[in-house]
Amino acid sequence: MSRRRLFVTTALPYANGAFHIGHIMEYVQADIWVRFQRMCGHEVHFVGADDAHGAPNMLKAEAEGVTPEQLVARIAAERPAHLRGFHLGFDNWHSTHSPENTELSQDIFRRLVAAGLIDRRAIEQLYDPVKGMFLADRYVRGECPNCGAPDQYGDACENCSSVYAATALKNPRSTLSGATPVLRSSDHFFFRLSDPRCVGFLKQWLQTPGRLQPQVVNKAREWLEGAGDKALGDWDISRDPPYFGIRVPDIAEEKYLYVWLDAPIGYLASLKNYCAKKGLDFAATLNASEQIHFIGKDIIYFHTLFWPAMLKFAGAPYKVPDRVYVHGFIGVSGEKMSKSRGTGISPQRYLDIGMNPDWLRYYIAAKLNAAVEDIDFNPDDFLARVNSDLVGKYVNIASRAAGFVSKQFGGRLYDFGDESPPSWGLVVAQDDSIAEGYESREFGRVVREVMALADRVNQRFDEAKPWDLAKDPSRRDDLHRACSDALLAFFALSVYLAPILPATARRVARELFGLERELTFDDRRLRPARIAPFKHLLTRVEEKQLDALFELLPAAAEATRSPQTHAEHQQHAAREQAVSDVITIEDFAKLDLRIARIVAAEAVEGADKLVKLTLDLGGETRTVFAGIKAAYAPEALTGRLTVMVANLAPRKMRFGVSEGMILAASGDGPGIHLIAPDEGAQPGMRVK
Ligand SMILES: [Zn+2]
Repeated sequence: MSRRRLFVTTALPYANGAFHIGHIMEYVQADIWVRFQRMCGHEVHFVGADDAHGAPNMLKAEAEGVTPEQLVARIAAERPAHLRGFHLGFDNWHSTHSPENTELSQDIFRRLVAAGLIDRRAIEQLYDPVKGMFLADRYVRGECPNCGAPDQYGDACENCSSVYAATALKNPRSTLSGATPVLRSSDHFFFRLSDPRCVGFLKQWLQTPGRLQPQVVNKAREWLEGAGDKALGDWDISRDPPYFGIRVPDIAEEKYLYVWLDAPIGYLASLKNYCAKKGLDFAATLNASEQIHFIGKDIIYFHTLFWPAMLKFAGAPYKVPDRVYVHGFIGVSGEKMSKSRGTGISPQRYLDIGMNPDWLRYYIAAKLNAAVEDIDFNPDDFLARVNSDLVGKYVNIASRAAGFVSKQFGGRLYDFGDESPPSWGLVVAQDDSIAEGYESREFGRVVREVMALADRVNQRFDEAKPWDLAKDPSRRDDLHRACSDALLAFFALSVYLAPILPATARRVARELFGLERELTFDDRRLRPARIAPFKHLLTRVEEKQLDALFELLPAAAEATRSPQTHAEHQQHAAREQAVSDVITIEDFAKLDLRIARIVAAEAVEGADKLVKLTLDLGGETRTVFAGIKAAYAPEALTGRLTVMVANLAPRKMRFGVSEGMILAASGDGPGIHLIAPDEGAQPGMRVK
């Protein structure tokens, strides 16, 4: 097998918050693939970076009273611990807000200008005269030009699903200042994606066998071959100030490259930064490597149209991606998780409460295949797979066989010589299939095959009746053979699982078999001569850990306490609750409080204090579980307006995901009093 050189990336996470479970799933997928390649002796450069630029980060930083640079630096500081925590072996983690990315983005822009693929055109856009900036579609709301539904976003109507330009909205307003936007003209730069050269190149690029999954090719061709109002348009790649980004080079005016132009270039910037640290030549490394991107299905458009076309027409040393591997989304117990609303499981919390990262890697691997399919994190399924498969089947082999070998044979394994130990033979015979499964990202199949092998090894061990053999001195040799065979099979299975369970496999190799170096895929045929006394390898998942993972936020938990208990507690404590510590206006500004209309309220079966509320925030709908059933009958709540914390991280509760909190007052006595706004307030209005 010739040695491959691979340049592997994962999609860049937006640098405005911690990783969510969707990020971790993608990184685990790529990391398993990369680890397998490395175990086969291939050279891999595996890099990631933060996606730092764009209006959302600029506005978030402004709201927090910090500079965008400070915001992205704060997020960047959290990354290494989270990546290490899940054993994600990136060689480098960089940022799109970096000298390398500025240099590469401006270089690619200049090359596209030279190739005649950049146009400068004046366009009319909505401008917020109070905020002093042009408004992206998501910052404009108004009445739908088609059906008249109020409070719709600037690109599409949630009521009638029609799609339109923000300039077509009736009575538009800026969501940033509330001001009425005005139309203003500005020059923008466009990448001419519709140029016949781009279209011709992309048709050929998409068709290359093995480059993309069939579903992805179909999707990309739909866009590429669309006609009429679905025809491929040119791409607006510049933004006016104020903007957090990279300057458009070679012009006197202050204009910036759109964040989506510089974000994928961040892959190259991270590689360049890594090459400098390692003393490697960037252009030569890029040129000699297969370029492979792991991405989610939400960004297919950018990675199969713009990105290859940009690279193609920028020319050498840039090269087009060799493969783009697309995965689906991860949900929690069937609840859809959206990027903008965050997720039900916090990876940080998973680590904080001491859950084993290899469990999650194993569970994710067991669910993944090469198709663009969504996967589900189900807590009961997670518990079952880790406890009955991973611990009950795989680890069980070693924990049963090792004791005999240590106590009765001084840790020495039976020397089978030229003979193939039967269980071990079964395991190693499957190596081609396992290798093919890893290469093609059919990790679920790899896990199923490994567990089926573990079943057979356990079965053979049971059939040998080692407990009976141990009582019969004349059958000592048979006991030694059966236990040694099981342990050699266990070692080979550990090699198979090493890309998925790096920490566990490393402990098996070092602590049980005394192998100090990293495992290679060839080690499946290695037959160690000795074992050290068995130490506990992997604990079981406990119910209480899953409860802790999905625990309510302290504030939400407070609200679900019964008012009586609350009052009694308070009487024993201070009579009056002291006012909390002083906070700054910036601290307060972090709270996004909105007027919400309760459009539905229902009791939650199995929870005597909770009411499930469906809240309308002026177009957007949220589900919130509130501990107010003692004070309000659900049917009395429908139609009421109240105030909600709209930017609270969603929490997975036993009954579903709670996407915020409503505000209520409570005092010494019993009773909870929902906050209601004065007449005239409308759903979606900000409270400040
Ligand atoms: Zn409409």
